[in-house]
Amino acid sequence: MVEYSGRLEFLRRSLMEWFRRSGRKFPWRGEVGWYGILLAEFLLVRTRSEVAERAFHELLSRFPTPENLCSAGVVPVREIFERIGLPSRAERLVTTVCTILREYGGRIPCDYQELLKLPGVGDYIARVVLSRVCGKHVAFVDSNVLRILTRFLGARLSVTKAAELLERYIPKGELLYVNVALLDLGALVCKPRKALCYICPLTPRCSTSSGTGSSLSRSETLRLRVVLK
Ligand code: SF4
Repeated sequence: MVEYSGRLEFLRRSLMEWFRRSGRKFPWRGEVGWYGILLAEFLLVRTRSEVAERAFHELLSRFPTPENLCSAGVVPVREIFERIGLPSRAERLVTTVCTILREYGGRIPCDYQELLKLPGVGDYIARVVLSRVCGKHVAFVDSNVLRILTRFLGARLSVTKAAELLERYIPKGELLYVNVALLDLGALVCKPRKALCYICPLTPRCSTSSGTGSSLSRSETLRLRVVLK
């Protein structure tokens, strides 16, 4: 993995600067505690951020605390989730919030295996919680982050490998910032079907954009470039 060090350092510097200028603002990016973070992550599954944002405000105004949500039960929460096409997530959210209140004394566990026991919490949400709530040096890799790293490094990566690279090469204290910047770059610039390389801060060292330094085969690189057009 040593050969990635210089390129990930470039990515870190470029993204930090780009994010300061162009990063998106969402209510769940402030100090919202474990409750706000869970609400947001349950809403963001297969949902556009703008749609999730409206539902997030509605959930927080109707159920401002985890206690409010737990005692309200599934039915009123499901009404909100139904409007964004994710009714089944309401029950898991309510069960998870109630479990945290009853079994963990109202504090979300900062342990990966414990988090996975909570309904609706998989690898990605567990990692978001470890990073954002518990302050751990943990990366969270969704399809946006994986797509950018695959294109930028010109390498086939699994989610696990991508997370390992970020955790290894992005310094403690900056990983969360870089991780969130990657989410935004994936949504705004390095899109699945159309990569806007001409406005991307990573263009100077991107394997897919420049065609240099890629460990992908020629046909794989060409396939990626076709997708970029
Ligand atoms: S230069 Fe193009 S392909 Fe590379 S990361 Fe940026 S948008 Fe994606």
